[in-house]
Amino acid sequence: MIRSVSLQRLIYRSYLSSSLVPIFAIELVLLLLYFGINQYLSDRQQEALLAEVNRGLVEISSREALLINNRLQSLSRMTNILRLEHENFFRHPELCSLPNGEPDLKQALSGAWYKATDNGGGSVYYSGTTVMGDSERWKMRCSESLDVILKAAVESSPLIAQAYLNTRDDMNRIYPFIPDSFEQFGPQMHMADYNFYYLADQMHNPERKVVWTDVYLDPAGLGWMVSSIAPVYRGDVLEGVSGLDVTINSFIKGILTVDMPWQASAFMTDANGVIMAMPEPVERLLGLRELRSHNYESNVGSTISKPEEFNLLKSPDDNVREQMSFLLQGEDRLHRLRLGDRDFIVSIQTVKQTGWRTIFLVDEQQLLKPIHDLQASSNRIGFLAISVMVIFYAAFFVFLDNKSRRLANQLAAPIAHLSEITGRVGESVLTEKLQSVGIIEIDRLYTNFNNMSEQLEIRTLELVESESREKVRRRETEILERLAITDRLTGLYNRRKLDDVMVYERERSLRSRQPFGVVIIDLDYFKSVNDQHGHPAGDQVLVELACLLKTSIRRIDTVGRWGGEEFILICPTTDINGTLQVAETLRQTIEQHEFPVVLRVTASFGVAAYLHGESVEELLERADKGLYDAKRAGRNRVGVTMPNPRAEDGAYL
Ligand code: GH3
Ligand code: MG
Ligand code: MG
Repeated sequence: MIRSVSLQRLIYRSYLSSSLVPIFAIELVLLLLYFGINQYLSDRQQEALLAEVNRGLVEISSREALLINNRLQSLSRMTNILRLEHENFFRHPELCSLPNGEPDLKQALSGAWYKATDNGGGSVYYSGTTVMGDSERWKMRCSESLDVILKAAVESSPLIAQAYLNTRDDMNRIYPFIPDSFEQFGPQMHMADYNFYYLADQMHNPERKVVWTDVYLDPAGLGWMVSSIAPVYRGDVLEGVSGLDVTINSFIKGILTVDMPWQASAFMTDANGVIMAMPEPVERLLGLRELRSHNYESNVGSTISKPEEFNLLKSPDDNVREQMSFLLQGEDRLHRLRLGDRDFIVSIQTVKQTGWRTIFLVDEQQLLKPIHDLQASSNRIGFLAISVMVIFYAAFFVFLDNKSRRLANQLAAPIAHLSEITGRVGESVLTEKLQSVGIIEIDRLYTNFNNMSEQLEIRTLELVESESREKVRRRETEILERLAITDRLTGLYNRRKLDDVMVYERERSLRSRQPFGVVIIDLDYFKSVNDQHGHPAGDQVLVELACLLKTSIRRIDTVGRWGGEEFILICPTTDINGTLQVAETLRQTIEQHEFPVVLRVTASFGVAAYLHGESVEELLERADKGLYDAKRAGRNRVGVTMPNPRAEDGAYL
């Protein structure tokens, strides 16, 4: 089925499908490409960046761990040099040099011995629990010679805070000088209680290596420390422990100030998971904090380690604890961690010297933020383009809509006009000519239509003309025909018509054997009417009589003027009696009628009914005979001749 559609709609649709749809499709494809490429590039960038970060982070973290390890190693070496010097000291008790002069050794009230004056070397302290004999005095005085190497060690590296020798009989020689060391250390100090001593003893360190302590609170008042310590043996006797104190801060500074790309953070734990260095962002992240402060309100009587709350492996947060134990107890490697709602790329490395772990982490979201930002801004540009496109298309649509409407109008209006005009064809004459609209096809159509309507008009006129001519002719004929059978004066049929009617009635009667009658009517003494009142008055009487006859007879009867003042009435399907009755009625009507001028007029009637087989002339002859008889009998009566057995009425002959 063909669905009808308006021209406007057709043009509109074709405009849309030919202009808007392809452009729109192309734009759509371009946009999809744009967003697709954006997404693709962004994904590739992310992948590339992540790959680079993975590689770089491992590189940086292992470099940093190696750096720390090297530093620690050089410190270990320095500790070893100290140890060698110290061993040498114990091996040669006969040598006693005082490089800084005689030390100012005093005993405090608490019983502890100490060097009272800074002579450029270290300080010396002897626990009050030690009984001072010659050996102790020698050790306290002659170990002044060790100040040179202790000082040299401290000055060799900014990382080294202090260098010392702790002896098995609780003497401490330490550089730099501590004024009033007896107060700092208290009246008594048992070296074997401290990790920086016992970790180097036979039991903990049978191999007599240089070893590192865990983090502890420095009794000498320098805060959180680690120490590189080495046992000093004379033969199999552990004479003491040489050590270097390294403040954690030096390392913290190192690790916290590593210049890191990708906004990476780093933190460090010792072998047990205790936080050694942790920047604030990581603290916030893990819900932990690094213990930086320390309290020296009382003397440090034994090893004070960092409390458990600073141990990552003992974090109260289940997630942090789990993730950290997984991290810290594993190998050196690259991990992915989820802390809170953030993902991290984590590289963990071990510092071989101490078992410390350096942990570098990069916040993935933060890392990818520039890429995401770029993508977002590209997408924004895309959305902006879409908005611009939408506006453009809206405008374009309005433009097309207008254009299509105008075009449709341009085409449809003339066609509608044409259809309106053609709709009127036949109703009236088309006088309007279609004007050119400037569209060739439509103009041609208009011209054709104009020609056609012109032709139609001419033809119509011709037709109308010929029709009216025909009508006139027919009318003329009609009039002529009527005139031919009409009496001029009275307007009744004339003799010619009456003849025809009688011939026709005779024919019919012959065929049907039905009767018909004729009545001849002759005005009485009409001559004298003319004579008395004038011919015109006579005419008037004739006209009046004609009228009277016409209105008095039956519809089937025919009346006409036979000539002069004689009239004939033909009564079809009427026998002699009926005809006589008609004649008699007429006679009375005339007799009683008041005519103009003459007032009274009478007429005599001759009646005859058709006898089968006779001619019209014979019939008329008989009627005439009847009339004659009526005249003769005195006029104003009906006369009938023919064998008329039933003419019993006295009015008849
Ligand atoms: P009746 O028939 O009674 O014997 O007498 P009548 O006078 O009628 O007799 P007749 O037939 O001799 O006369 C007829 C008269 O009718 C003669 C004529 O003057 C008059 N007549 C005939 N035709 C016309 C006519 O057309 N107009 C007028 N005014 N008179 C006519
Ligand atoms: Mg007469
Ligand atoms: Mg007469």
